[in-house]
Amino acid sequence: MNRFLLALALVLFSVAGFTQRTAFSPKEDSLFIRKIADEILVNGKAYAQLTVLTKTIGARLSGSLAYCRAEIWGQQALRDAGAGKIYLQPCMVPHWVRGGVDSATLTTLENGNQLKMRSLNILSLGNSLGTGPSGIHAQVMMVRSFEELRKRSAEAKGKIVFYNYPFDARPVETFNVYRDAVRYRVQGAAEAARYGAIAMLMRSVTNASDNNPHTGMMIYNDSFPKIPASALGLRDADLLAGTLEGSGRPAQMSVYIRTLAQMLPDTIAHNVIGEIRGSLYPDQVITVGGHLDSWDPAEGAQDDGAGCVQSIEVLRVLNALGYKPRHSIRVVLFANEENGLRGAKKYADEIKAKNEKVLFALESDAGGFTPRCFSFTLRPDRLARLRPWIRLLQPYGIYEFTGNGGGADVAPLADQGATVGELVPDSQRYFDYHHSRSDILENVSKRELELGAVNMAALIYLVDKYGF
Ligand SMILES: [Zn+2]
Repeated sequence: MNRFLLALALVLFSVAGFTQRTAFSPKEDSLFIRKIADEILVNGKAYAQLTVLTKTIGARLSGSLAYCRAEIWGQQALRDAGAGKIYLQPCMVPHWVRGGVDSATLTTLENGNQLKMRSLNILSLGNSLGTGPSGIHAQVMMVRSFEELRKRSAEAKGKIVFYNYPFDARPVETFNVYRDAVRYRVQGAAEAARYGAIAMLMRSVTNASDNNPHTGMMIYNDSFPKIPASALGLRDADLLAGTLEGSGRPAQMSVYIRTLAQMLPDTIAHNVIGEIRGSLYPDQVITVGGHLDSWDPAEGAQDDGAGCVQSIEVLRVLNALGYKPRHSIRVVLFANEENGLRGAKKYADEIKAKNEKVLFALESDAGGFTPRCFSFTLRPDRLARLRPWIRLLQPYGIYEFTGNGGGADVAPLADQGATVGELVPDSQRYFDYHHSRSDILENVSKRELELGAVNMAALIYLVDKYGF
């Protein structure tokens, strides 16, 4: 009997809880989402904003003058989108500079005594120290993995360790391949230095068919010397590997590397924030954002200019359609995602300090490609409750919700218990461009970029209306 009463109470409680929520009205939602799509696909401003960001400002690494200009661009773009309140959130960021043009030369002794020199396409890894102006000249030790390096560690002393770890072509979800291969970029120099290597080279973390090297953040281990670390374009990685394997006499080949990178003292940067105040729950915030900083070789178009302009477009379209959000909607252009995540940490710290409630934080940092999916930090049972929304988004490309979590900039909010998520677009071309010279506006499709913004705006509308 007691059990029965308890079950009845639970049922009544959940029904009461349910009736407090706004009743699901898919017809009305479908019509409004159609309006969102029409407005973005016909009058969208995301591509025009991305054009200004990439072509007049371009690369904008933390600490650079270009980053300061990007902050001004971000405030103006938010103003144009109709944000009611626009402000900057200061944080201290690492200030790494490339310091000049990176170069490397492969020298081989052929036909007995003929010297042959070929230049190799390299980029110093972010946060790496350079070789200095006189460069480093040494023999190369190629390994395919950390395990191989450990086994052959006695050979590493005084050499340039070259990680020729391939980007696995088999998995269709390329971010999984990246997560596996990127440890050579992040920890490769420290591991090589552990065994006495004097520099590190690596096969770029990409499957691109061109020869552009791909940079990205690396981390030193203070217990070992801070050796210079660079990435090679894939064709030159193959050339170097082929030379090493073909010669059979590595003593007759060497590589000269010259990089000038430096780490300067931390400097100031800002998250750029714009918001519309909620009509019913102004103290509850829905955050949507991307990161404003980008690596220095290109324009940061896919990574992550796309996510910034999509987030701004979410605010613009809701404003343009006269939508009055129940919760405050806040666009955040995060500082320093690429080599420190200081902007994301600062934003989460401020949320905590002000005791604000984050209803949801959505990130777009996987490129402005055709949208496929939204990923959330929700348990399967709570995720299942959102399934009816998928049908509303299907006409615009989203066909799945997963529980694989959010991106890097919303991770500190997730650590505080907030529900976060990210847009998951098609990933086949992302790592062709990522952190390389080819991350330029010309490699962004206006149409795909806008479809991402359509789905983001639709999701924000649904979250604002129904919650989770
Ligand atoms: Zn990014």
